[in-house]
Amino acid sequence: MIVILLGPPGAGKGTQADFISEAHNIPKLSTGDMLREAVASGSPMGKQLQEVMSSGGLVSDEIMIDLIRDRIRQADCKTGFILDGFPRTVAQAEALTTMFEEIGRAADVALEFAVDDGILVERISGRFSCANCGAGYHDSFNKPAKDGVCDRCGSTEFTRRKDDNAETVGKRLESYHRQTAPLLPYYKGLGILRTVDAMQPIDEVKSAIAQLLNA
Ligand code: ADP
Ligand code: AMP
Repeated sequence: MIVILLGPPGAGKGTQADFISEAHNIPKLSTGDMLREAVASGSPMGKQLQEVMSSGGLVSDEIMIDLIRDRIRQADCKTGFILDGFPRTVAQAEALTTMFEEIGRAADVALEFAVDDGILVERISGRFSCANCGAGYHDSFNKPAKDGVCDRCGSTEFTRRKDDNAETVGKRLESYHRQTAPLLPYYKGLGILRTVDAMQPIDEVKSAIAQLLNA
């Protein structure tokens, strides 16, 4: 199964991608995570990426399309994958459709996370993750069972994203509405758009998605 997750920053895509990945045994391809790894490597390319990401803008379509083209051809993507954070522009979506045609595959579902902008700053400003395994948490909505200890791997080290501040969030939301929201009619036109109410608590969103994907 190939699933594309669409929705603004903080809508809950990464959180739900982990659940879908586990339930369907397919990898989550998060372009944000891939870019953050490139930044952490400290390469000259990583430095350029960091500038764009900390400004709240989007990395160029050429870089992103090459990154995904290589990734989806890897062996672990054979039975399917979840795209979290890609495509983010119409040019990326069109390139993805062409890539799929070239390899004889197609996306099954483009899943829209419907949320009001008003809740996103709170979701994003409370976000943190395990520095060891990447498991995602929230200060109020999704705390580790034992304070300061990762549920998944037991690590006690956590990190917060540099771009998760109110100023950058505003710019990221603006990029979403201007450049990414046009993908909703694009995937509606392809007949694969489904919408989930992502204002609900995490477990309810999880059940709604499970129902939708199993239908
Ligand atoms: P995205 O990948 O869309 O940017 P995340 O999955 O990282 O969003 O979620 C953003 C933050 O909100 C995280 O801290 C996460 O734990 C929390 N979160 C995710 N889904 C919900 C939800 N349905 N209700 C409340 N908080 C949520
Ligand atoms: P995310 O982790 O999805 O919130 O992405 C973090 C940042 O990485 C974004 O604000 C963009 O700067 C960049 N990014 C991630 N995915 C893409 C993409 N598909 N196209 C362009 N930029 C991206």
